[in-house]
Amino acid sequence: MPNIERNRASYWMPFTGNREFLKNPRIFASAAGMFYQTADGREILDASSGLWCSTLGHGHPAVTEAIRVAAGKLDYAPAFQIGHPLAFELAERIARIMPEGLEHVFFTNSGSEAVDTALKIALAFHRLRGQGGRTRLIGRVNGYHGVGFGGMSVGGMVKNRRTFGPLLAGIDHLPHTHNLEKNAFSRGQPAWGAHLADELEGLIALHDASTIAAVIVEPVAGSAGVFVPPQGYLQRLREISNRHGILLIFDEVITAFGRLGTASAAEKFTVKPDIITIAKGMTAGTVPMGGVVANREIYDTFMQQQETGVELFHGYTYSAHPLACAAGMAVMQVYQEDGIFGRAATLSPYLEDAVHSLRGAPHVVDVRNLGMMSGIELAPHPDGAGVRGHELFLRGLDAGVFYRVNGDIVAIAPPLVCERTHIDLAVSKLRGILAQLA
Ligand code: PLP
Repeated sequence: MPNIERNRASYWMPFTGNREFLKNPRIFASAAGMFYQTADGREILDASSGLWCSTLGHGHPAVTEAIRVAAGKLDYAPAFQIGHPLAFELAERIARIMPEGLEHVFFTNSGSEAVDTALKIALAFHRLRGQGGRTRLIGRVNGYHGVGFGGMSVGGMVKNRRTFGPLLAGIDHLPHTHNLEKNAFSRGQPAWGAHLADELEGLIALHDASTIAAVIVEPVAGSAGVFVPPQGYLQRLREISNRHGILLIFDEVITAFGRLGTASAAEKFTVKPDIITIAKGMTAGTVPMGGVVANREIYDTFMQQQETGVELFHGYTYSAHPLACAAGMAVMQVYQEDGIFGRAATLSPYLEDAVHSLRGAPHVVDVRNLGMMSGIELAPHPDGAGVRGHELFLRGLDAGVFYRVNGDIVAIAPPLVCERTHIDLAVSKLRGILAQLA
């Protein structure tokens, strides 16, 4: 157990109530398979794949070994003007499983960087095509696109925005699609709500298409609370954005690599965006990595520009880091050899039935799911939004389960390698906790 002072620490924790944490530290010391081990030796089931990233559970031997070997062989290679074999191999491997035509991968180190990179590519793309007036970016209320200034700006979670000034100029937002009156307890995609995509027409009428560069949405939102797109919604967004020459970006930081039983949400919904952002499942959470997958037209536009030299003035010291690439290659191999995406597709109906069995449990106002993503929404406690959710999170740990909770929404999104018994355990413990919650 680390020696933690009760009221201050050198470690300033992200998205955490630091003062509350220090009074009662929660420390994971190791992990194997579906479980974390706490510093005091208790087993904690990982019901949310860490932060949606640990698709293969923890300590997968092939992945661990690949990282170990890579560290001994090439610990770092300059990301600018120099390549290394694994970077090319991983990009190619990812391109192979993305929708046809989305075939160029720009590496970043996180989802936030992937989003900011995608937005910059969209802006530069239009400029190269002589449409430099297309600078406006459209996000969505309740969207989560990470914490860079670009992602925050197109994002739509008020607490992530309100203390950070005016953010980027020239941003607008679509309305969100979450509606308890219309869609509570939907299994899979809700029937109501496709018309909300038409709000994009309204924004185009307001701003004019010639000023809009891109629309970015999470095909299925995870972090803000598991919002499944209404039937037909994404298709309409694609149709409208196509008609007006606006790029469509799918933020697939959570949904890519099997979460929906397919390599991408684009594949699942048969809607092809122009750009896909990826992270998390790319390395199954083992080494930080993100990326932007751009279509051929975008890539070619950069490569065919008149000026010689650098085509895109953007990149990170750790873009395509050798350790991350090694992890990514090993993870892709496991996905393929073990049929992980198909496994997730097969398990999804079981998760759906299990979480929907919580309908009628105390405080539960909605259950929603798609693929290996599910959200259980609770009515807020009279003391405020998020109070009940946080209490549930703490009791979950006491009961031996890690649930990712945002506000009053509990996500159950286990590693794709989980067994039915793990889903049963996560749901039955949750049922027990709900019965005790005030
Ligand atoms: N985009 C989406 C859709 C996400 O869910 C997340 C993280 O949860 C991010 C971006 C940000 O990723 P990161 O935390 O790796 O910066």
